[in-house]
Amino acid sequence: MTATAERAGGVLERYEAVIGIEIHCQLRTVSKMFCACSTQYDGAAPNTHCCPTCLGLPGALPVINRAAVEHVIATGLAIGASIPARTQWERKNYFYPDLPKGYQISQYAIPLAANGRLAIETSAGLFTVDITRAHLEEDTAKLAHGDVVPGSTAGRTTLVDFNRSGAPLMEIVTEPCIRTAEQARRYAEELQLVLRAIGVSDADMERGQMRVEANVSLRVRGTQPFGTRVEVKNMNSFRSVERAIAFEIERQAAALDAGEPLWMETRGWDDGRQATYHMRSKETSEDYRYFPEPDLPPLRVDEAWIEAVRAGLPELPAARRERYVAAGITPYDAAVIVADPGMTGAFEAISAAAASLPAKEIANFVSGMHARAAKSAGINDRGTAGASDPASIAVLLSAIADGSIGRPIGRDLLDRHLADGTPAADLLATVASTISDDAALLGHIDAVIAANPKAVADHRAGKPVAGFFVGQVMRATGGAADAAKVTALVRQRLDAEG
Ligand code: ADP
Ligand code: MG
Ligand code: ZN
Repeated sequence: MTATAERAGGVLERYEAVIGIEIHCQLRTVSKMFCACSTQYDGAAPNTHCCPTCLGLPGALPVINRAAVEHVIATGLAIGASIPARTQWERKNYFYPDLPKGYQISQYAIPLAANGRLAIETSAGLFTVDITRAHLEEDTAKLAHGDVVPGSTAGRTTLVDFNRSGAPLMEIVTEPCIRTAEQARRYAEELQLVLRAIGVSDADMERGQMRVEANVSLRVRGTQPFGTRVEVKNMNSFRSVERAIAFEIERQAAALDAGEPLWMETRGWDDGRQATYHMRSKETSEDYRYFPEPDLPPLRVDEAWIEAVRAGLPELPAARRERYVAAGITPYDAAVIVADPGMTGAFEAISAAAASLPAKEIANFVSGMHARAAKSAGINDRGTAGASDPASIAVLLSAIADGSIGRPIGRDLLDRHLADGTPAADLLATVASTISDDAALLGHIDAVIAANPKAVADHRAGKPVAGFFVGQVMRATGGAADAAKVTALVRQRLDAEG
């Protein structure tokens, strides 16, 4: 146990943590939330993906992006939430340079999805996170804080890039039902898998496509009322989500123990210092003066639309893990494979091409291949190493499993296939020509005879040793030799020995 965990253990005897998670994720759409500007602005020059609407110019009117709405409906269905028949848009007002209109179009009173849940596996067992809501809104512009602009006489400056302004954003909020930093991390990880599986977001934390904020408070164990909460942001990995919450629990416990008051504040996570720091005092929702968006009518969502989205949902990660476990894979391996799209793709493709192979064997192969390929050839878009392909891998694994090639040779062929992508048929053909080739077989046979003078003497004494030599030759060729031919050649050679 680390020193941190030990101290947290002590703290947690006195206090219980109450944690609620808010996650913003960028939705995978072609255009922005309320205008036709492209969302492909990553790496583009600043302010090249903007129009009057996403710049908030007077008179520009918003138009709802249907795909973004469907993404939130899909997310809602994936987490078992209910979708209202009618929802609406509200203006969330605040003044900041990244918000050109002075308000963000969001959903407040009636979110597009409500009352969902997500089950997660933790070191203490299964835990279900209650999800309050998922709603749709628009992203802000990006601020770049610099020291000086070249050619400018000003001091410190802040530049605004509106490319991200108005990009579709989904906010998913949990109930204050989470009790440990680990549960929070596992929730974020599982949600990422779901969002990726249903294709609504790339949800990459490092790239800011998925931003996790944790609300953390403590209460004395055994008491009901919640304590003062602190919002923590700027965690750019799952690891930092867990660490930031653990840090915050300790910091608040120390403050409470010392009789220092806590206040509603927003704190940032400093990954370098492994600590949270004060950013600003927290706004309350009244400060935002929410009111219905006059430029957009309420949105009606009929049953047929919901059912069409439901029909398009793929298998969800939890269902996939269950299916793998039912097929004979350990829960641990199932989790590892399902957590990695490449491994999942390879596992599915190899399974489809090798119906009679035990799932466990495919799972072992896939995880081994990925572990090795990560260090060398890399993983291709078929989910396999280097230039290899699932169909060839299936053929080779099947040939090993049904005994038509021996394991050592089979392994060698798999390695060659993974290294350069030579098709399985070609590899098997080279093996077949070697092993049925008399000269090659005689080479092996002579080597075995030379290495076993005692068996040769036994033969001279009239003992039946042909089977022993055939076995040795089969071993030396990795089981790839033509056994009938080897038997005939061994007899011929032994007879020559007299
Ligand atoms: P805001 O509008 O300030 O974001 P919300 O009411 O939407 O506030 O709550 C944000 C998150 O904080 C939710 O996930 C909620 O579960 C969580 N939360 C609310 N109260 C507490 C508390 N006392 N301690 C920890 N988390 C809390
Ligand atoms: Mg919030
Ligand atoms: Zn625009």
